[in-house]
Amino acid sequence: MRLEREADLAVARGMTERAEDFYTSLGMPKLPASFWDKAQLVKPRDRDVVCHASAWDMNLAGDVRIKMCIKPNEEDFTTIYHELGHVYYYLAYNDLPPLFQSGANDGFHEAIGDTVVLSLTPDYLHSIGLVGKPRQSDQAVINAQMRMALAKVAFLPFGLMIDRWRWGVFDGSITPDRYNEAWWALKAQYQGVAPVQMRGEDYFDAGAKYHVPGNTPYTRYFLAHILQFQFYRALCDAAGYQGPLHQCSFYGNKEAGQKFWSMLKKGQSQPWPETLKELTGSGELDATAILDYFAPLQAWLKEQNQGRSCGW
Ligand SMILES: [Zn+2]
Repeated sequence: MRLEREADLAVARGMTERAEDFYTSLGMPKLPASFWDKAQLVKPRDRDVVCHASAWDMNLAGDVRIKMCIKPNEEDFTTIYHELGHVYYYLAYNDLPPLFQSGANDGFHEAIGDTVVLSLTPDYLHSIGLVGKPRQSDQAVINAQMRMALAKVAFLPFGLMIDRWRWGVFDGSITPDRYNEAWWALKAQYQGVAPVQMRGEDYFDAGAKYHVPGNTPYTRYFLAHILQFQFYRALCDAAGYQGPLHQCSFYGNKEAGQKFWSMLKKGQSQPWPETLKELTGSGELDATAILDYFAPLQAWLKEQNQGRSCGW
């Protein structure tokens, strides 16, 4: 058993070093030695823990950690890159006064690691020996884009409606006698989904979403899903990349890394539109980067949906 656990730990550590390598390839520092001592990479055997992945800045001065129960699969592999995004943000702004040690806005923190994950292209995965030589057939591109779109685009209306409901509760426009009705009205309006059977006020369906009883703001995830494509497009530009956006990986590019790191170093020390502008050239949230990224899928869908009326 002991040997088995050490093998699990070695694999988890190897996966984490692989993610660290992406960040250092951009010119960012190595993770501090304390990270490797103190992070929880695999599930402990002697106690119960919450395995939901998270990243922590323990002392605002370099004691950064992640908490995960890493399994050797694709989902956990990309989650490590996401969590290290938080960790590198912490490290970059640790020099600032504590009040400024935070994301430029709520959405920035969640978007950093995801920006890197967008760079984990088939060519990158091939270059690190994880997959064979990618065949870029049209079908393979559409399949990969559809998978991404189901995660990233379908999330947007959901990400928006959660706080529409929460804020409605807070400002009193959604009263306790219609909590469930209002929940499903928003789901219909934004997501176009409906329950199989009528759900009355005997139920509290909103409570099944972790962030509602947990009282965690949700707009951050909506914003992050837009920002990550803006960051990614800007960093691909900085890297001098030309070509279809979805094939860009800024792995190993020091110019992109330099721009990324100077944004991270700003933390919350100035209004977020300024920080956004320094990286992307514009201080406004802008969904055109999403459209650029999904251009092949968009063209395919237009063809498939010809003559149909989409919507609800
Ligand atoms: Zn996160």
